[in-house]
Amino acid sequence: MHVKDLQGSLPPVGDEGTGRSSKLEKQIPRTGRPVEVGMSLSLWLQTVRNNPLLNHRTTEELPKTADVVIIGSGATGSLTALSLLQSPNPPKSVVLLEARELCSGATGRNAGHCKPDQWRGFTKYETAFGAEQALKILSNEQRTWEGLVEYVKKHNVDCDLWVGKTLDVLMTDDVAEVAANNFSNYQAAGGDVSKIEVTTDQDKAEEISRLKGAKAVYAWDASSLHPWKLVAHINQQSLDLGLNLQTWTPVTKVSGSANKWTVHTERGDISTPVVVHATNAYAGALLPETRGAIRPCPHMCNKVLPPSTFAGSRSLKNSYAIIYPDGISGTDFGHRGIRMVGHNNRGMSLNYLRDEPERGSRVLYDYAWSGIIARSADQVPYIGAVPGKPGQWMCCGHNGHGMARIFTAAPALAKLVQGATWDETGLPECFEVSNERLHRHLDPNWELNEDN
Ligand SMILES: Cc1cc2nc3c(=O)[nH]c(=O)nc-3n(C[C@H](O)[C@H](O)[C@H](O)COP(=O)(O)OP(=O)(O)OC[C@H]3O[C@@H](n4cnc5c(N)ncnc54)[C@H](O)[C@@H]3O)c2cc1C
Repeated sequence: MHVKDLQGSLPPVGDEGTGRSSKLEKQIPRTGRPVEVGMSLSLWLQTVRNNPLLNHRTTEELPKTADVVIIGSGATGSLTALSLLQSPNPPKSVVLLEARELCSGATGRNAGHCKPDQWRGFTKYETAFGAEQALKILSNEQRTWEGLVEYVKKHNVDCDLWVGKTLDVLMTDDVAEVAANNFSNYQAAGGDVSKIEVTTDQDKAEEISRLKGAKAVYAWDASSLHPWKLVAHINQQSLDLGLNLQTWTPVTKVSGSANKWTVHTERGDISTPVVVHATNAYAGALLPETRGAIRPCPHMCNKVLPPSTFAGSRSLKNSYAIIYPDGISGTDFGHRGIRMVGHNNRGMSLNYLRDEPERGSRVLYDYAWSGIIARSADQVPYIGAVPGKPGQWMCCGHNGHGMARIFTAAPALAKLVQGATWDETGLPECFEVSNERLHRHLDPNWELNEDN
């Protein structure tokens, strides 16, 4: 991505880590199931190796029938299950099937950052969906973040929640100008800018960000947390309400017809009227019609230990998106070390930090892990009834930004399953899955793609 390619807009929050290397993401997508051998262990999965929920199976055998079968135990599947079980009219039996360990997909491998887009993606979303939808998308992200923080605080969830300022730092005059235009477009369209602190004075921008050469800074509230622990808490609540959780049970196929579906696994089949696909990047394996619209893409996180000059009272207190003409790097400077997201880590090499270490330890690149994100062909998730398959539902394709979407999307999906209209979900209309949306992006080779 070069300045001329920005065309007056910035990549929305969630595009952290993209840039030149995003060519990788354009390759013909694989559409298989999660690999079951040889995957990396994320920072989060490393720290919970003795938690029995990792390989929990509520019953030794799979039940033969269920009112609802949910596929995928990331944040989406887990929160959909809890929302159903906590509803006024809960289904009698809900089964949650997970191919590997509990929450070992993108949720268990991400950077742990919940950053609601407050302004940055406005022009891009406006171009794609119009101003009204763009405003709805951004206000939904704020609601989602508030919902997540409220859940953690209300239940006192032990998941290292941090709430503080996230900084978008513009590193060249060109991107600072694009940002300024984007910000005023958003404001002119009626966007709420009351929570954003804007600094366009270069000296001040350097002082606030502590990044050499920073031109402007936009700051607002966001969070980071241990995503696996949050999802484990959600599952524990569901188990208390009767959830049947089955880890290490990959679904190989869903067959049948309207409201009479069979979910196939190597451990047996389950008959059910309702199937929820919460498989995100892996949606295409069971729903070939999503191939092309939802593209699985490799993504990376690095854990970096800060040098002495950025430790103790001088430690960084914010999370960052460092924005250059050729991409964005995302970071989360927490007490666990600096976590960097994406392939394009140029900005994260800490070259831009203002204080060189004269004494003390230098930067230590400690650990790296990978995961698969679900790029959405039109940038927003696919939520609702699977077209042409009554009784099958989906909430997939979070475009590398699920932490700022799922806390409203999953409860909304549970409402839809129980008969609510789209209006009652409060979600932006452009998130709703439709035949037309899927077919617009259908991979012409979808039938030829191998399954794994
Ligand atoms: C490296 C990386 C960094 C990221 N950083 C951030 C970030 O900082 N902030 C942010 O907002 N988002 C980030 N994301 C994206 C975010 O993690 C996702 O958008 C979100 O977690 C999606 O949640 P989910 O529950 O929909 O999907 P997942 O968490 O991927 O859950 C899907 C589950 O379905 C299971 N599954 C798939 N197929 C089958 C099958 N056939 N049978 C049974 N089970 C199956 C998978 O094993 C998986 O556990 C990042 C992602 C990655 C990979």
